[in-house]
Amino acid sequence: MNQVKIDFDRCKECGYCVNFCPKKILAIGSKINKRGYYPPVIDPIEECIACGTCAKVCPEAAIEVYKEI
Ligand code: SF4
Ligand code: SF4
Repeated sequence: MNQVKIDFDRCKECGYCVNFCPKKILAIGSKINKRGYYPPVIDPIEECIACGTCAKVCPEAAIEVYKEI
């Protein structure tokens, strides 16, 4: 399965990853981080195509995408 790792405390909740994910599987989460923001959660991960868009648009470089090989 593809994996998306989000560095929870790096996120500034800009929402870019949520808005640009072509599969619309990212959404702002309900847990607050150290900086006072709500990082996104991904669901369902099974639908992730590992396009890398979320990682590319994140201004905080908080996302890493791993494609299943
Ligand atoms: S890698 Fe692509 S499909 Fe997967 S969560 Fe990120 S933007 Fe969405
Ligand atoms: S693009 Fe990065 S900083 Fe913005 S909401 Fe997504 S993870 Fe957080």
